[in-house]
Amino acid sequence: MKILVTGSAGFIGTNFVRLLLRERPDWEIVSFDKLTYAGNPENLQELAGESRHVFVQGDIVNADDVRAVFSAHQPDWLVNFAAETHVDRSIHGHAAEFLQTNIVGTHVLLETAREHGLKKFLHVSTDEVFGDLPLDGGTPFTESTPYNPSSPYAVSKAASDMLVRSYHRTFGLPVLVTNTSNNFGPYQLPEKLIPHLIYRAERGEPLPIYGDGLNVRDWIHVEDHCTGILAVLERGEIGETYNIGATNERHNIDLAKMILSILGKSEDSLTYVTDRPGHDRRYAIDSTKIMSELGWRPKFDAAHFEEALKATVEWYLAHKDWSDRAVERAFGVNVHFK
Ligand code: NAD
Repeated sequence: MKILVTGSAGFIGTNFVRLLLRERPDWEIVSFDKLTYAGNPENLQELAGESRHVFVQGDIVNADDVRAVFSAHQPDWLVNFAAETHVDRSIHGHAAEFLQTNIVGTHVLLETAREHGLKKFLHVSTDEVFGDLPLDGGTPFTESTPYNPSSPYAVSKAASDMLVRSYHRTFGLPVLVTNTSNNFGPYQLPEKLIPHLIYRAERGEPLPIYGDGLNVRDWIHVEDHCTGILAVLERGEIGETYNIGATNERHNIDLAKMILSILGKSEDSLTYVTDRPGHDRRYAIDSTKIMSELGWRPKFDAAHFEEALKATVEWYLAHKDWSDRAVERAFGVNVHFK
């Protein structure tokens, strides 16, 4: 089995490559990544001595790059993590990059997959495509919840999901789609909420909380997300979509307080800031389908969320140099990101 993993130098891709190396000893992995500000080559450097893993730098928007990696390595399967992923950037001046990478780039992958007769194409997506739920109710998102994306990021992911499905229906490409809630765990760039809060708290800086802090996110540990993707990849029914979540809904403000408590820091640093425009109020994902049809279970469900969050905080404390270098690489020395 030879698998092409696009976006492998980012947060989830890196964790997925590690899972495959651990759990699928016969598989060969071809990593493909443009190394944007969010793609950290250091995330894959630890794997340099691994003969079953090869890294190729390239852009999914560039058909020559994509054809070259397909021709050179002839992958059987592909898992697509490559994307522009930070909602705030899609709102503040970078929307065009989201449309290019997330829609046009996915299209280039699909076309090349067709040309090469790829045997499986798994597209990794988000629950943000469904829009949001009210704080005080609403049914968690299922695979048949209509798409109603709010941000340019969510729109670009929604379009890419639909494009992927269209290639199954129209051309018979063997595709799978997964939609997942907010991930946390090791190797996440500290522009995203959990490592961002840890990064700032460690420096004694104010912890910015959008709006009233009551927005709810449904958290899944990245390891659970990756085992879910693997289950769908190996056992999912071609053409189907699977939601992957761990039923860990938390208000942002409560999450920030939990992190401060784990760090032994005061809550005085919590600072309410102007809300994100169009900020989705609540996400909640229903994983019944993947659990009942594929037998997948999250390791870190609601009963184990605090344990997983503590381990994550500890990982960032033990990898402060990694965070410093990742931030410096992404945003420049002394440039403070929001
Ligand atoms: P990330 O931003 O950490 O990593 C994205 C990776 O894609 C980076 O390594 C980047 O260099 C690479 N990339 C960007 N543009 C590229 C291009 N044109 N060509 C090749 N590589 C390119 O993102 P992540 O958090 O690891 O997310 C991975 C996927 O999972 C994304 O598709 C995202 O939409 C989805 N997702 C993420 C979350 C989450 O909470 N992080 C939740 C649900 C879904």
